[in-house]
Amino acid sequence: MKQENRESAPGQNCPPRGPIAPALLEWFYRHRRSLPFREDPTPYHIWVSEIMLQQTRMTAAVPYYLRFIQALPTVEDLARCPEDQLAKLWEGLGYYSRMRNLQKAARVICEKYGGALPASLEELKKLPGVGEYTAGAIASIGFGLPAPAVDGNVLRVFSRLWRDERDISTPAAKKECAARVMAQQPPEAAGDFNQALMELGALVCLPGTPDCAACPLKELCSSYGTPDAARLPVKAPRAERKVRPVTVVLARSEQGFLLGRRGRGGLLAGLWQPLLWEEGLEKEETLARLKQMGLEPESSEALPPARHVFTHVEWRMSGWYCRVGQAPAPEGFVWAEPDQIREEYALPGAFKVYRALMLDESGNFL
Ligand code: SF4
Repeated sequence: MKQENRESAPGQNCPPRGPIAPALLEWFYRHRRSLPFREDPTPYHIWVSEIMLQQTRMTAAVPYYLRFIQALPTVEDLARCPEDQLAKLWEGLGYYSRMRNLQKAARVICEKYGGALPASLEELKKLPGVGEYTAGAIASIGFGLPAPAVDGNVLRVFSRLWRDERDISTPAAKKECAARVMAQQPPEAAGDFNQALMELGALVCLPGTPDCAACPLKELCSSYGTPDAARLPVKAPRAERKVRPVTVVLARSEQGFLLGRRGRGGLLAGLWQPLLWEEGLEKEETLARLKQMGLEPESSEALPPARHVFTHVEWRMSGWYCRVGQAPAPEGFVWAEPDQIREEYALPGAFKVYRALMLDESGNFL
């Protein structure tokens, strides 16, 4: 059996040479990273951490997690949290629909389940923003229920363990992977097993360069010792993102900077931002638009360009820092002093460069 796997040609699909749980769990208990949500894995903690980790690296997410749980220690606190405070806690994490869904789900949990997350995979999946993976993570890690939690790490590890050539981005491959996880998962250690798989993918079976020599599963893995270990998994390339020019104006008067709230739907819905137009405008056109809004430009200086990549679109931003005369804030806008921008108004990470300029008291601008 061993020889067959080692010598099998690329394109074959070979199961590992035995159950993976014993070696994997032994490795996990020795090498697991200490993480705040691991040390106190309540269903609420697992839920919040998993939502934060969906599009954010572990090192970046941990300080956010700690701040969030300190400010909102229970589901009820999250359900009741004012929108602007929640946005401030999430400021810079991006993908704000995650935050909005967290609060929507918290309200459902309070109304329907008395403030405690339901101990059921199927009920968890019905909550806003909770998909197959997150439901499986909460069920297995938070409640100790047998359930698969298949994320990108697990898909990669399993495609290598099985030397599987299928495109891991397809629903069929994900379903098959979940079935394989369940066939290997010890019911009494479901949460640890799922975490161990993710940890192996994060620390050893890395994208592109797996550290097979250090892997606890090397004796079982069908790709070990073959070029497939580094080549797999197969993944269809993403569709290209659209590039959109965006004109930003940091309009500064004696009353502060002009901030506007985005509309209720679409990208960065409901969040604060500097004045902007999602189109590339020449300076004359931009200044004319300021005048139409009742603002009188006194001087202007070009802003440094910045870009931000969202899932489906990339913003290429440029624009002007404009001194304007005192005027009432146009409808839907506020004048915000730098201290208020620091403490009250959450600006998405897309505006990191421009937020820093608004908070810069050095006088570099105007
Ligand atoms: S032996 Fe290599 S490819 Fe196989 S699971 Fe371990 S790290 Fe991944």
